Amino acid sequence: MQIRTRLTLQFLLWGAIVMILTSLIIYYSSAGFRKEDFHNRLRNKAKSSTKLLFDGINLDPDRALKLEKYNPVNLPNEKIIILNFLNYVIYSTDPSKEIIINDSLLERIRLFENITYNQGKYDVVGMLYASRFDKYVVLAAATDIEGSFYLAKLKFILVMACCLSLGLFSFAGWIYSGKALKPMTDVVKKVEAISITSLNLRVPVHNELDEIGKLAKTFNNMLERLEASFAVQKDFISNASHELRTPLTSINGQLEVLMLKDRSSEEYQAVIESVLEDIKSLILLSNRLLMVARSKSESVINMEKEVRIDEVLWQAQEETQKHNKNYHVTISLGESLTDSDHLIILCDEPLIKAALANIIDNACKYSSDHSVDIQLEHIDQQIELVFADRGIGISDDDLQKIFEPFYRASNAIEYPGTGIGLQLVNQIIKTHNGTIRITSELGKGTKVNVKLPTKI
Ligand code: ADP
Repeated sequence: MQIRTRLTLQFLLWGAIVMILTSLIIYYSSAGFRKEDFHNRLRNKAKSSTKLLFDGINLDPDRALKLEKYNPVNLPNEKIIILNFLNYVIYSTDPSKEIIINDSLLERIRLFENITYNQGKYDVVGMLYASRFDKYVVLAAATDIEGSFYLAKLKFILVMACCLSLGLFSFAGWIYSGKALKPMTDVVKKVEAISITSLNLRVPVHNELDEIGKLAKTFNNMLERLEASFAVQKDFISNASHELRTPLTSINGQLEVLMLKDRSSEEYQAVIESVLEDIKSLILLSNRLLMVARSKSESVINMEKEVRIDEVLWQAQEETQKHNKNYHVTISLGESLTDSDHLIILCDEPLIKAALANIIDNACKYSSDHSVDIQLEHIDQQIELVFADRGIGISDDDLQKIFEPFYRASNAIEYPGTGIGLQLVNQIIKTHNGTIRITSELGKGTKVNVKLPTKI
């Protein structure tokens, strides 16, 4: 069910409850007042008739009957019956004996002195009247035609008012909920129009402070992040294809030139070596691209293994030195490392090894002495690794951008590289709940500071 329909129905339900309750209270209290008023009139009538007969003028009952017959203030269908202490009817305006009198009724009147009850169309009042000589039982009955008519009219008016106000409640509820939900409907319409190709669109924010405004703002923020990540993805793909195309074009060109005529074995050797170089860089790039994809997918990362960080560091050093024999790596363990558990981290070993190897490789690659000093310390349940080199350094402007995919500083262009190593390192360290910070001075060297949480 739509929220608008639900709100309208709730509005209607509460309106109906209030209206019906109010109408019932009005109707039943009016009915009570009518009854009380009519009984009072009956009682007064009974009293005046009895007084006329016994206390005042001591009217002869036959004459009193005649007078009563033509009395203009008689109530509709009025009957007055008076009985003496022997229960003989001594006066009655009810010749057809419509009002039933029996012993138990008379007993009740004598006991309570004043009772009221209903008999068919009659409202009856029974009372005890004490004169100087006797105690009479007086019964007065009549039909409240006027009161019943008034009540029927009131009932009709109340039912009509209920129906009318329920109609009004439904209408007002529908209009009100429609107005209240309009900003929401606008948001839904706008969201429906947003697709991958139109991520630049935003939903309207009518009032920043209300719930729907907040929802729209949150949605817009999400769109902003989505748009940014799509843009990064697009850049990444175009950069990746460019990086892959460059060595492939170079291989293609070299082989085509080679095929133009017969060459000496030295020339073949030289081209094969150059092609091999290009193939190596292609392999490195595709490996890193795969690694980036893997480090972004949480489901394939296994961080449950306890690993000694110094052992991974040795392996990373070995791996880099395998490809570049002239690289020098010095590893020193600081005095804060007093327990072997200080070196244990929970990690995905191949990913951490790749990240450390990349930092070592960069430090050695961008330094004329091809060497890096690595210092390990244990601070606040974290292992800190500082990689210091005396290389070309990074300018402040470049430092802001070196974690972006495929970014290479201008002073690094002459060195081989892909520009996605540090993005990969950053991604891996973050996945392991660690931090990476780089400080550098142009022409003097670079320090890469990595912190990873340890077991203790
Ligand atoms: P690359 O394959 O180019 O080394 P990275 O992503 O590993 O790519 O590094 C990005 C850029 O950061 C490099 O191109 C280089 O400009 C700079 N850089 C990284 N490490 C160092 C370092 N130790 N010394 C100087 N520059 C560095």
